[in-house]
Amino acid sequence: MKASDSIRTIKGIGEKSGELFGKLGITTVEELLAFYPREYDLFTAIQPVSSVREGETAILEGSFAARPKMASVRNLKIITCRFRDSTGQILVSWFNMPYLMRSLKMGMRYIIRGRIARKNGVLQMVQPKLLTKEEYANQKGKLSPVYPLTAGLTNHAVAKAVAAALKECEAESDFLPLELRKEYDLQSHKKAVQTIHFPDSKESYAKARRRLVFEEFFLFSLALRQVREKKHSAASPHCLKKQEKTKKLLSALPYTLTSGQEKAWKEIQGDLQSGYVMNRLVQGDVGSGKTVVAMLALLLAAENGYQGAIMVPTEVLAKQHYEEFRKYLEPLGINVVLLTGSMTAAAKREAGRLIEGHQADIIVGTHALIQEKVSYADLALVVTDEQHRFGVRQREQFSAKGEAPHMLVMSATPIPRTLAIILYGDLDVSVIDVLPSERLPIKNCAVDTNYRPQAYRFMEKQVQEGHQVYIICPMVEESENSEAENVMDYTNTLREVLPPSIHVEYLHGKMRPALKNEIMEAFASGEIDILVSTTVIEVGINVPNATVMMIENAERFGLAQLHQLRGRVGRGAAQSYCIFMAGNPSKETMERLRIIEGSNDGFYVAGQDLKLRGPGDLFGIRQSGDLLFRLGDIYQDAKELQQANEAASSFEKKDIQLLCKKHERLKRKMAQYTGGEITI
Ligand code: ADP
Ligand code: MG
Repeated sequence: MKASDSIRTIKGIGEKSGELFGKLGITTVEELLAFYPREYDLFTAIQPVSSVREGETAILEGSFAARPKMASVRNLKIITCRFRDSTGQILVSWFNMPYLMRSLKMGMRYIIRGRIARKNGVLQMVQPKLLTKEEYANQKGKLSPVYPLTAGLTNHAVAKAVAAALKECEAESDFLPLELRKEYDLQSHKKAVQTIHFPDSKESYAKARRRLVFEEFFLFSLALRQVREKKHSAASPHCLKKQEKTKKLLSALPYTLTSGQEKAWKEIQGDLQSGYVMNRLVQGDVGSGKTVVAMLALLLAAENGYQGAIMVPTEVLAKQHYEEFRKYLEPLGINVVLLTGSMTAAAKREAGRLIEGHQADIIVGTHALIQEKVSYADLALVVTDEQHRFGVRQREQFSAKGEAPHMLVMSATPIPRTLAIILYGDLDVSVIDVLPSERLPIKNCAVDTNYRPQAYRFMEKQVQEGHQVYIICPMVEESENSEAENVMDYTNTLREVLPPSIHVEYLHGKMRPALKNEIMEAFASGEIDILVSTTVIEVGINVPNATVMMIENAERFGLAQLHQLRGRVGRGAAQSYCIFMAGNPSKETMERLRIIEGSNDGFYVAGQDLKLRGPGDLFGIRQSGDLLFRLGDIYQDAKELQQANEAASSFEKKDIQLLCKKHERLKRKMAQYTGGEITI
């Protein structure tokens, strides 16, 4: 079996499961091997019943305190019973396993392993596995991979396929040259891949991960250098001198620009009038007001007789920007046009006609903007919002829609300057470092689950005052549909405890995009009071009326991600609140949450988190919420990023085109890499 073979060559993968793997973006053996676990399930030691905590997976040893009972609810058969050891008792439940009724015996000792959840306010272990003494002894201390799944595909099936692929696939030579591996003390790719799927200890996992993170950063860094070669200070055919309308817009805004916005705008104006092509990144914390800066730049292009376009990652965000732009720009005689994938064919055609005929001055849209059939009359500026959601290649495709257009990209990821230079080596950077002054700082609190009833009462009060609420639930693996079940369960509980007048809805990643849009729009228009969601809650969404965010199991998120999530509130004039609820309030968890509780500054928060834990011990938690890289995390792995950058830079001097024979394998890998999606 070769790496490039179809996954169908793996024993046990037929047409149907082949399709399921396809849904996860896996069609070849190589792609399967690069499908790294999301986290690991650590098989811990037996613990006392009295010490279990909500959200964790526990192992208990004891016996049944009473005879198991079976009840039928709708078409589910549920067995419940009480389980005890010398320290206490806990409720245990099984769904749809009626045959257990016969085998569960009173007076026998059992070892059980399962997730601890709170249902109707009571802690219980759900769907535990019964273990023999031998099974327990064999698995104790082991790590097993947990993969991100799709409906119909089990974790076991993925792990089995990966194990088969690891065994059967012929190894290719390592694409990182030996001297480089020696210099940076990196293990082989083959060994690292084997270990990342099936680590036998945390130490070996860390070593494997380091190699894979390094290679990821290295390929990225090398690719970026190749792009940069090409576009170094190119002359621009679009010099944008006229600026009456941008001045008018500035005086029509209901606020004055903050000093940070002002500075960024000046820098952009300078670029646009310089006679050279602009390549600029505007970096600003969530809520710092990046949209208006983009709007000014787009207007400048339009009033000089050109077109400007802005691409955003989601339909909802596109619509939101479109409405906002129309409100301010139509009075200035500027024609704003929307183009997204979900529009009807006729509406898309009409938008296409306006764009091609230059009746559209400013175009707002999603990926639809870079489709082949869309052609622009005279594009002088392309803007990408929430740029980390797009690949370098998409950015390039967008640029290719015009004749050397100016490029502006916007990001809310708080990245220290030293890292920004590495990650955005091809861009100049403007930083918006202040928030609008009349904004009240978000009030934060980090609490444990005992606080939940109080939190619900607080939300109820806020809703009655006319505000809205977000609740974030993390994904809980267990079954492939658990993400959905989790938010649905939560929503049902909430509907029961809150008065019926409060409209609670949910949102999760497995929903159809059209339905997701509908829910987001209903929330934005105030129809929904409380939105229970996984982290799919759209980036960049601006619902200033939402004043409360509660994050369940906050300990499962990295601080930088918590900060991004929190950025959905505190966007209007009213006081906003963020409640970080720890399902497992250990000392370390609370210490970490105190950091975000004590500061609303994204840079500070990300930096402190690193200091507190030191890189490397963030086992299984991603520091940043952005999937910038598959494994690597720019904060946690800042050192590897720097090293990989240094290694790539040595190639710039030696052999950037990779013409040397000893770099042949690397050259092939690079071609594969840049042909795919590079996400920064
Ligand atoms: P982000 O930087 O996260 O994209 P937005 O551009 O969505 O932030 O702006 C967040 C909110 O702040 C919007 O409601 C916007 O109208 C408002 N805003 C932007 N600039 C200012 C300012 N200088 N003063 C007051 N409010 C502002
Ligand atoms: Mg934004």
